[in-house]
Amino acid sequence: MKDIEKKPTFLENVDMMVNDTITKINIDSNIAKILKTCRSVLQVKFPVKIKNQIEIFHGWRAVHSTHRLPVKGGLRFSTNVNQEEVEALASLMTFKCAVVDVPFGGAKGGLLIDPKQYDEESLEKITKKFARELIRKGYLSPARDVPAPDMGTSQREMGWILDAYKSLRPDDINHAACVTGKSTDHGGIKGRLEATGRGVCEALKEFFRHSNELTKHSIDGTLSDQTIIIQGFGNVGINSAKALYDNGARIIGVAEREGGIFSEDGIDIYQLEKYQSEKQTILNFPNTQNVKKSIDLLSYKCDILIPAALEGVITLNNADTIQAKIICEGANGPITYRANKKLLEKKKVIIPDIYANAGGVTVSYFEWIRNTSHIRMGRLNKRYEEDRGEAIIKAIQSISDKNIPKNLIKQLVHGANEEDIIASGLEDTMRTSFQDMLENKEKYDLDSYRMSAYAVALKKIEKSYLELGI
Ligand code: GLU
Repeated sequence: MKDIEKKPTFLENVDMMVNDTITKINIDSNIAKILKTCRSVLQVKFPVKIKNQIEIFHGWRAVHSTHRLPVKGGLRFSTNVNQEEVEALASLMTFKCAVVDVPFGGAKGGLLIDPKQYDEESLEKITKKFARELIRKGYLSPARDVPAPDMGTSQREMGWILDAYKSLRPDDINHAACVTGKSTDHGGIKGRLEATGRGVCEALKEFFRHSNELTKHSIDGTLSDQTIIIQGFGNVGINSAKALYDNGARIIGVAEREGGIFSEDGIDIYQLEKYQSEKQTILNFPNTQNVKKSIDLLSYKCDILIPAALEGVITLNNADTIQAKIICEGANGPITYRANKKLLEKKKVIIPDIYANAGGVTVSYFEWIRNTSHIRMGRLNKRYEEDRGEAIIKAIQSISDKNIPKNLIKQLVHGANEEDIIASGLEDTMRTSFQDMLENKEKYDLDSYRMSAYAVALKKIEKSYLELGI
């Protein structure tokens, strides 16, 4: 396809989206200046000895806004990372945290590496060295800057970083809070792994609860009546797909790097996950047809499209071909500024990244609270709640001869454990944030959910800066 878009950079795309909102909602011009500036970027180049050869690695950590501390955002390992990208992603983190009321500033880091080229031992060495560089320069600590998994990193890398931090700062009693997204054996929280994907599903569920919005956009039916195509079958894609599948939606297409698969009848996501981990590909999955060029699947007919892989996948080149009515951004920045405009002209509904994929950082916040308070959520009150539930049942039974249904008894005597608390905290966050967005959309007469999400964020950050002084 011919490239008809003279590409603005990722950072310019984000800046233009922020600018558009600023012109509509009357933000203090000084604050606007601050928010278009990345506060600091650390660039490191460090040597690591791998199989008797010295290799030099190149990494960054960008801190966009420190209006709240710590700053928060993932660390990605990829061959596409560069300073501009981490700066753009760091600014998205600032806005994302504000939208979902996570009291952190925004940051992002990256290491220029193809992790597949290294064995586990070498990767551990490289990750720990990178972590030590960040720690020594004040870009990684529970109070100042807390990374999390992102593209190319996972629980495993977070564990290595935690180990590096612990050995450099053994006196820090809060050491477990220096990263989130760790394994549950080392202070991680149940549900963090799935949180971004589950958040995507919660965002869609909340949208479908607002019948006015559905009518405005001529959308019929419930979430479970919709057909869905997902681009990306990594952590975010898989967990969005599972949550939506569990909610009865039909996933008809999945796109991955090597190509895509499609089936009008729907794909069994749990089977596909198993298949992918055995075969290392999603192609040739039974009862589906292969789609040669993964990007083509974005233009197939469906109700909801979820880009959950890279930034900049929907551009002026393919915006016109998108048939889905709703696009829910599981990835950060999958739609360019100009494509966004085009899609809105075509009356598409876009549920924006800084809201739709904020479930990850929301549960990261819960994990950080758990680590800094040094106690598992629910530990103090679970048994108490259960005793109370039993007492209520006994009281009712003593004054009534009617039997209480078994499932109601089960519900009443169930004390919330950590998983329950996290799931309900995530759901509540996604619901109230969307309601804030709707309020702002109406108040400032904004034409998209993206603008309303930015409006929520910008207003909160402005308030924070003005109250504390610049
Ligand atoms: N990397 C994730 C994101 O882009 C999570 C960030 C975090 O939990 O700090 O939102």
